[in-house]
Amino acid sequence: MNQSVYDIVTAIGKGETTARAVVAESLAAIAARDAQVRAFVCVDGEGALAAADEVDRRLAAGERVGPLAGVPVAIKDNICTLNLPTTCASRMLEDYTSPYEAGVVERLRSAGAIVVGKTNLDEFAMGSSNENSALFRTVNAWSPDRVAGGSSGGSAVAVAAGMVPCALGSDTGGSIRLPASFNGVVGLKPTYGRVSRYGLVAFGSSLDQIGPITRDARDAAIVLSVIAGDDARDSTNVRGRPFISGIADGETTPDPFSVGVASECFGEGLAGSVRASVEAGIGRLGELGAETVDIRLPHMEYAIACYYIIATAEASSNLARYDGVHYGHRTSRADDIFELYSHSRVEGFGAEVKRRIMLGTYVLSSGYYDAYYKKALQVRTLIRRDFEKAFEKVDVIASPVAPTTAFRVGEKTDDPLAMYLADVYTTSANLAGLPAISIPCGFDEDGMPIGLQLMGRWFEEDRLLAIAHRFLEGTDYNRLSPLCNPAR
Ligand code: GLN
Repeated sequence: MNQSVYDIVTAIGKGETTARAVVAESLAAIAARDAQVRAFVCVDGEGALAAADEVDRRLAAGERVGPLAGVPVAIKDNICTLNLPTTCASRMLEDYTSPYEAGVVERLRSAGAIVVGKTNLDEFAMGSSNENSALFRTVNAWSPDRVAGGSSGGSAVAVAAGMVPCALGSDTGGSIRLPASFNGVVGLKPTYGRVSRYGLVAFGSSLDQIGPITRDARDAAIVLSVIAGDDARDSTNVRGRPFISGIADGETTPDPFSVGVASECFGEGLAGSVRASVEAGIGRLGELGAETVDIRLPHMEYAIACYYIIATAEASSNLARYDGVHYGHRTSRADDIFELYSHSRVEGFGAEVKRRIMLGTYVLSSGYYDAYYKKALQVRTLIRRDFEKAFEKVDVIASPVAPTTAFRVGEKTDDPLAMYLADVYTTSANLAGLPAISIPCGFDEDGMPIGLQLMGRWFEEDRLLAIAHRFLEGTDYNRLSPLCNPAR
């Protein structure tokens, strides 16, 4: 399907199409293309069509419908939904269906959006390529021998391949932005606390945020304005900060802005094609009226180390609940309670999840806590201060999203450290809690999409989205993937 969220809402509002027709088109696109990319863990055709009929009935009866009436959405499979399983792409939760619905899903549904299915991810959102899914591997929408990116790979591919106009992802260290950049779509990680995480399966609780993946920035603004807002069921949710967007309502000119560029983001390991497109993108921001300012982010080089200590520490604690008794897969070969716990966990978790639990347990253990975990918290403060200082001078900071375009399937699976380095530019926004967006800004020599990252001040998503909107206007950087070309 070619239409954006905005197009769909407008057309349905004018009576030019129906929710049923739109949802049927999304389901047909999934039926035609998903076998090639495998973005979906499950698809709920019947439920989606029934929900669409209800929207059409309300419209016909002149009843009020929400701002996303009739819009098909896909949900990352670590976000709880009633009626559909929530597997986290793990054997541990293979048969799990949540007894309650995530706050964001409730908000989407009450806005009239229609959940068509759940999307694949790296197990428990741990990974950068989608190759850690215990179910199957989603591949890139632009080339089947390239990775989808992770961990929200299924959501990004579903949007890039024109199967849905928008999807939700979660971002702990880059999991919305990285797959968005690898697939040429827009991905927004909101400010920490902006969007309720009630019903998001916890990975790194001081880092996790839910956000939209869409084809353009206006759609991201529309979806964010629906999912952001108060939720007393998430203690980290910042109250009294609804997101009211100018561009969602058609206002398209951002205020004059300055853009900071840090040499720390253009160092060793950055592919030439990515550097060239990102630099050209920064040049384009200049043409849109931005003043470019050199800034310094001296602690950026520690972001990866710091992130992989804090995220694993938090994961080791969050994942303790999967013991085969309280939650998760239960082994059938245990003679005592100790074996029950250990066999259930050995059988239920994949290799990367086990690695994270072991790393996290290690950095929290007596004798190592001060050297690793406490030190990482101190470095995190320094990283945050770097940003506070930079944002005294500039409104946004531009960088690459990832050092390379989508790498080849299998290229990094034997080398976890190389995989972790894909997150070198994304993790610092999570450590500091900042909003950050990935915007398509070009293609490499093989035709693979490249992403530009803009990070903004806390709660200034609207500025990021307005700039992104202007940036994409008149370009085709965010065109749909070749999979959508019927000539193929
Ligand atoms: N790739 C990072 C990791 O593996 C980020 C994951 C995420 O944001 N969920 O931890």
